[in-house]
Amino acid sequence: MWLDRYKAILCDLDGCLISGRRVMPGAGELVAYAGSRLWILSNNSTHTSASLAIELDRMGLPIHPSRLILAGATAVDLIARENAAARVAIHGTADIVNYAAAAGLTVSDRQPDVVLLTRDPGFSYARLNLIIRQVEQGARLVVSNTDATHPGADGYPVAETGALLSAVKASLPDLDFLCVGKPNSYLYERVLSQLPGRLDEFLAIGDSAETDGKGAEEIGISHILIGASEAARYTSLRQVLGMTQEQDDVHA
Ligand SMILES: [Mg+2]
Repeated sequence: MWLDRYKAILCDLDGCLISGRRVMPGAGELVAYAGSRLWILSNNSTHTSASLAIELDRMGLPIHPSRLILAGATAVDLIARENAAARVAIHGTADIVNYAAAAGLTVSDRQPDVVLLTRDPGFSYARLNLIIRQVEQGARLVVSNTDATHPGADGYPVAETGALLSAVKASLPDLDFLCVGKPNSYLYERVLSQLPGRLDEFLAIGDSAETDGKGAEEIGISHILIGASEAARYTSLRQVLGMTQEQDDVHA
């Protein structure tokens, strides 16, 4: 099979392996085929690798947490690596807050050095004003990703970090921030640092030209796009794996 030549397959999560709570066609087969060669690179800012691994396992996709490279947790790691003593205001899920505390960071809304914005289910008018104040007082803003939405459990889009960031940007038009998620290189670098090799031994799979495609191109890894978009060469992972010549209805 043509995928055999790759040392690592860097696959996106939403729209590739799952969509909401639905397992996409060929996802289970890719997990079984690629085993530990499969790395999931996702702009997910809700979970840690450990909590997402449990959810994926329940969906029949057993993937080791060490193979789940997620934007929210990676942002925490990046902040901790740059300054282990940083005070960080975290606007995000309890999972991300706990992960940051476990990494040794001081999580506090008072006089933070860094503001981390991820998908924050508690986002509100008051929270928006708090972020504005923290940034205006000099805290550096780090965001997990700039995606506006991701597919919710019932198939409807739910607001992602980018939607919350838009509210902050509307209030502070000259806002400066660091984005950790795709298309930026941080998630890819985490794989490459653990798995030295030639770039042509890696393949990225995604469903978004703007994040998955652009990110892989910029770091120099070849990629294929799947899904319903015009740029996609395959409709599904089933086609990628050569299980069918037919187009899967990815909207089903
Ligand atoms: Mg996707």
